[in-house]
Amino acid sequence: WQRLRQGLSRTSGQLTGQITGIFTKRKLDEETLEELEDVLLQADLGVETALRITDALASGRYGKDISPAEVQKVMADEIARVLEPVAKPLELDLSHKPHVILVVGVNGTGKTTTIGKLAAKLHSGGLKVTLAAGDTFRAAAIEQLKIWGDRTGSKVVSTKLGADAAGLAYEAFETARADGADVLIIDTAGRLQNRTELMDELAKVVRVIGKLDPDAPHTVLQTLDATTGQNALNQVEIFKNVAGVNGLVMTKLDGTARGGILVAIAAKHKLPVYFIGVGEGVDDLEPFEAADFASAIAG
Ligand code: GDP
Repeated sequence: WQRLRQGLSRTSGQLTGQITGIFTKRKLDEETLEELEDVLLQADLGVETALRITDALASGRYGKDISPAEVQKVMADEIARVLEPVAKPLELDLSHKPHVILVVGVNGTGKTTTIGKLAAKLHSGGLKVTLAAGDTFRAAAIEQLKIWGDRTGSKVVSTKLGADAAGLAYEAFETARADGADVLIIDTAGRLQNRTELMDELAKVVRVIGKLDPDAPHTVLQTLDATTGQNALNQVEIFKNVAGVNGLVMTKLDGTARGGILVAIAAKHKLPVYFIGVGEGVDDLEPFEAADFASAIAG
């Protein structure tokens, strides 16, 4: 929570400054509302949420004096309302053995790190976890996953560099099943430079896993980097279409994050946000809390 607050402090500091600038000794009218709307859009909150906030302010307070603190309170409340429906815990259906979690996202957004943190969480909850090094294009990704496997006591199924990712996923599923693993987490490639190839590969991974369990992958988790801003919206669009994403993790919310985009994504895509990443360490994966996040943004 402290790290999240710090990570979002640039966003919240900017918003606080701008809101104070607009509403000091001025009434809530067409002009100030328009200025506020611009500020909210600059913070990546999205048109829908910006309008929610200005509408909530205008109803009842129009033409009256309003303090910057009151504006921030309404903003925090409205953002929390947008985020509440997507703040859901990740639920595993352990009647499936293993429950398969496919992790997708653009390279560098934190897939491998998130897999490691998640494996640690599940392992400490008493579950047996298997990891599949499905990013068969990057030697570093395979090595990194092996390190996380050692660190979290999880078996890692890997193959040689350049091998077929779907074949590896299939093999990992069979291994996890034979071992009686509760959860299989599959890493994937995220090379957006060659989108057709990426789409084909991910679609094939999904298809092949479905042969072993028609409901698998049960969870398709996409990682988003909080420092990328608007681009994250497009990334969700792409991976939702290609891989059927049904849950999100926003990483790098420590540092100098631009968290506003998560609000825009929640309003547009309505996908559950299971966790947030607040550091590179094994314990730096937190459940997503709507009210905490809203107040960290609103300042
Ligand atoms: P991948 O290419 O999607 O598998 O991304 P990685 O898991 O390799 O992560 C890319 C970089 O981001 C690495 O240096 C990670 O340590 C770092 N990283 C991942 N998650 C977080 C986070 O929540 N906070 C910070 N500060 N760094 C992170």
